[in-house]
Amino acid sequence: ESKRAFIAGVADDNGYGWAIAKSLAAAGAEILVGTWVPALNIFETSLRRGKFDESRVLPDGSLMQITKMYPLDAVYDSPDDVPEDLKTNKRYAGLSNWTVQEAAESVQQDFGTIDILVHSLANGPEVSKPLLETSRKGYLAAVSASSYSYVSLLKHFLPIMNPGGSSISLTYIASERIIPGYGGGMSSAKAALESDTRVLAFEAGRKHKIRVNTISACPLRSRAAKAIGFIDTMIEYSLANAPLQKELSADEVGNTAAFLASPLASAITGALIYVDNGLNAMGIGL
Ligand code: NAD
Repeated sequence: ESKRAFIAGVADDNGYGWAIAKSLAAAGAEILVGTWVPALNIFETSLRRGKFDESRVLPDGSLMQITKMYPLDAVYDSPDDVPEDLKTNKRYAGLSNWTVQEAAESVQQDFGTIDILVHSLANGPEVSKPLLETSRKGYLAAVSASSYSYVSLLKHFLPIMNPGGSSISLTYIASERIIPGYGGGMSSAKAALESDTRVLAFEAGRKHKIRVNTISACPLRSRAAKAIGFIDTMIEYSLANAPLQKELSADEVGNTAAFLASPLASAITGALIYVDNGLNAMGIGL
């Protein structure tokens, strides 16, 4: 019987969310995505016009199908949280039911249940500022969009997740080691996400038999990463210093997500899995 996945944080074919969608689709899962409200229209149009057809090709030659796309802004939990000015904002006004609670309700109405939940989103408005120069507002915004968004997603989707299901997020080693340039409280947000992975694994495991894991991935030239600015330096650093001297392909993260979501990983929960060519294991570069 085929599994159904909801992947939050897909808005083009460059990021980890897209690669995870492909790996899950290749393994036979039905794909639903949650796309950031301001990005949904262009993503939908581009997909419909065939702009992503080349990157939709699965190993068997067929094209990945996205059964349904949902607008989502994971910074808002329920309609009560949405400020007036955003309701009338041009990029939000035409769309509805995009808070986390409403997105979960929509998925439930359309499909009943899901088996796999993926959180592949982050945002830190001050990411290019060092922590010492980060404002309280910027820091809290990073944690809201990048960490609490996951707590909220899991909280709202858990009731419609089939027991035995799996939830996955994406993190970065800047949470535990100093990565100059990954600022704005984003390193703090990833540390929260990783700690929450353990606590949520306990709570979701006991309550609903759901596994909760996070993938600590290597730098990838995604839209989000290009916004940080130092992505090329990081990729070069990894190429020079990691045990495996190759550029990481997003598919390698996608495949790990597919493994974690599968029964092959039935005893893995609360774990942080590095998919980084082994870079995390190095003490110094050579
Ligand atoms: P990406 O740009 O493909 O994905 C980020 C997505 O988040 C975008 O689609 C964006 O529209 C969405 N988003 C932002 N704010 C949102 C909100 N409030 N509500 C809903 N969606 C929102 O970039 P990516 O690099 O693939 O990022 C995916 C995940 O991977 C993130 O958690 C990121 O931190 C993590 N990650 C990335 C790298 C890297 O080098 N690219 C490394 C390690 C971890």
